[in-house]
Amino acid sequence: MSQPDLTSHFLELIRRASTDLRPDIENALHAAREREAEGSAAQGALDTIIKNIALARQKSTPICQDTGTPIFYIYYPEGWSTLKLKKQARDAVAEATAKAYLRPNAVDSLSGKNSGDNLGDEFPSFHFHEWEEPYLKVDLMLKGGGCENVGIQYRLPNAKLGAGRNLEGVRRAVLDAVHQAQGQGCAPGIIGVAIGGDRGSGYTRSKEQFYRDLDDSNENPELAGMEERLTGEANSLGIGPMGFGGETTVLGVKIGALHRLPASYFVTASYMCWADRRRTLIWRDGEIEIS
Ligand code: SF4
Repeated sequence: MSQPDLTSHFLELIRRASTDLRPDIENALHAAREREAEGSAAQGALDTIIKNIALARQKSTPICQDTGTPIFYIYYPEGWSTLKLKKQARDAVAEATAKAYLRPNAVDSLSGKNSGDNLGDEFPSFHFHEWEEPYLKVDLMLKGGGCENVGIQYRLPNAKLGAGRNLEGVRRAVLDAVHQAQGQGCAPGIIGVAIGGDRGSGYTRSKEQFYRDLDDSNENPELAGMEERLTGEANSLGIGPMGFGGETTVLGVKIGALHRLPASYFVTASYMCWADRRRTLIWRDGEIEIS
């Protein structure tokens, strides 16, 4: 099969992700604004956020000055070259940086030097999965640094939290994660949770929760109930938008579970800020769709 050059489409995917927030998140922010007290600092913060989102879309400029780490999940049919896909996506990232859709964010950890084009070792980040579908799907997330800093992993049991190796323990760990983050992850955020796995797979799976629609429901009824309960309980903590106090600390909580070793029980909570920038590209029979 001759593989198409998708570089320009990847560039558009990045532009859309960086400048055009998805409707599920934007609608949730509008609903949050309505819940806050008239004239409160929380409502003021949400007004500013909502205004920024509209301006970014109108001017095709980044929603937030920190355009984050680009994380690509690429699902491809048999016969596609991942080397080519990776090169095209990296070229698109460099071009998006030159066009200021992305801020240069890739810094050499030893020298402190910024590569200037968002390219570096494991930067951007790629996850390739061959699948049985006949089409290509590319999910892109731009993960901000401030919210990444407040991600946290717990090893249960945790005596301080009174958290055992069960769903109640998971609940206690997640509420502690939200409490510790306060407004520093740029609340209201979304909490991605992974139960189990090892330390690495826990963080990966917790971030994969962010690719779910905000208003979806977990296929597992037990986890669906816990997601709903934790969203309500996190919002009753009173941390509020940007930590100013108020009704909306999180827009949602999403939970996944992995198998684990009998010896370990990790609960990993990743935090996504209100600037939850993600978009999906589908290539099917030569046609492109970005949503
Ligand atoms: S955490 Fe999110 S909203 Fe806050 S500065 Fe970073 S990217 Fe922007």
